[in-house]
Amino acid sequence: MNLVEKDLKYIWHPCSQMKDYQDLEPIVIKNGKGAYIFDIDGKSYLDAVSSWWVNLFGHSNDRINRAINEQVEKLEHVIFANFTHEPAIQLAEKIVNITPEGLDKVFFSDNGSSAIEVALKMSFQYHQQTGKFKKQRFAALQNAYHGETLGALSVGDLDLYSKVFNPLLLNTLRLESPDCYRCVYCKSRDTCNVECFANLEKDIILHHEELCAVIIEPLIQCAAGMKMYPPVYLKRLRKLCDEYDIHLIADEIAVGFGRTGKMFACEHAGISPDIMCLSKGITAGYLPLALTLTSAKIYDAFYGDYFEHKAFMHSHSYTGNPISCAVANESLLIFETEDIVAKNKILEKYMLKCANTYFSENKNIGEYRQIGMVGAIELVMDKNSKQGFEPQKRIGYEVYKKGLNKGIVIRPLGNVIYFMPPYVVNQHDLDFLYSRTLEAITEVLNQ
Ligand SMILES: *Cc1c(COP(=O)(O)O)cnc(C)c1O
Repeated sequence: MNLVEKDLKYIWHPCSQMKDYQDLEPIVIKNGKGAYIFDIDGKSYLDAVSSWWVNLFGHSNDRINRAINEQVEKLEHVIFANFTHEPAIQLAEKIVNITPEGLDKVFFSDNGSSAIEVALKMSFQYHQQTGKFKKQRFAALQNAYHGETLGALSVGDLDLYSKVFNPLLLNTLRLESPDCYRCVYCKSRDTCNVECFANLEKDIILHHEELCAVIIEPLIQCAAGMKMYPPVYLKRLRKLCDEYDIHLIADEIAVGFGRTGKMFACEHAGISPDIMCLSKGITAGYLPLALTLTSAKIYDAFYGDYFEHKAFMHSHSYTGNPISCAVANESLLIFETEDIVAKNKILEKYMLKCANTYFSENKNIGEYRQIGMVGAIELVMDKNSKQGFEPQKRIGYEVYKKGLNKGIVIRPLGNVIYFMPPYVVNQHDLDFLYSRTLEAITEVLNQ
């Protein structure tokens, strides 16, 4: 049996209909360097999705490789209750210093969904312990995505992941989300005054007594199809949550670590959430690690004598893994020493230029939108009507398959094709990516 046959015999892949693998066999990747991955036949692919939004500084990065090697020689793992270690301490201190004001305490876990579970449990327990017993519910936006464990699915709103599990999920208050591409309120994005906020506001006010927290993906609802909305929305939400004693949970798992052009997306709005979740890019795409940050105020509500039963009894075996922490520390050092956020501005501009060059004429590209180093194309039947393709046609998936032949990885979200490249791409790579994407789209839609 070759590797592909063995893979299909033994492995159940994530987020996939396994039957699709009959047509499109799993691609066996042997190695990676920079923005490219290489299969066992030596074919190269530009990793335009940063290996599921995690990679920042390329594959097999020399600095990160060295940091891992140095750490494994010292300590690979140790229980994190009652014990601690320098990589975690250094990381926590640094993260508190670079995240928005007021996020003073760091709770460790090992994947994004867990960081969300931690956030929800923390907020719920806080309100119980401070006597606000009626606050037992969460609010979240339409089209939200916060991960796939049951709590995280409960606040999410994408049927694709959650529909079958509905009987198991928490009763989340669903709030109208911004939908800038097909906005029914604003005539133009330039004059946007987030009129869409009014409905959310009404619902929150109506239910405020029962709400622990509102959870949100700042600026970009990524899994929903890279839906982007303006920072002023976050400002309004922060104010509303303050007025009604509701926690604001910022899920920066996808948008943190420079993706939106600032280190954290909340910075665009100048707000501090009560709880912030980080993962994905935190280890530059190398190892599992997640953090849930919160305020001293929330932390203090859990502080007391053991038999008051106020402690936060959440744990995972690999909590605070030292190798992951060492990688995160090295990644943050790369941000600093190489002035990554400033350098990315040049790449951002170039992405926009490419979009202008390649996409502006195509009638099936309804819109190209971009914040920082996230660019997205919404494929539609016709630009003017904005009418979408029927999902059954799987246009995005067909474009993706064509892209693979052309050496680019642009795994779609429905009929949205997006670019979230590692920060090590150069202008040549971006021209290659955008021009090949246009070719793939044209071939699929004119065939
Ligand atoms: C990926 C993601 C998660 C879940 O993280 P996992 O590590 O995949 O569990 C949660 N929220 C957002 C916004 C994400 O993009």
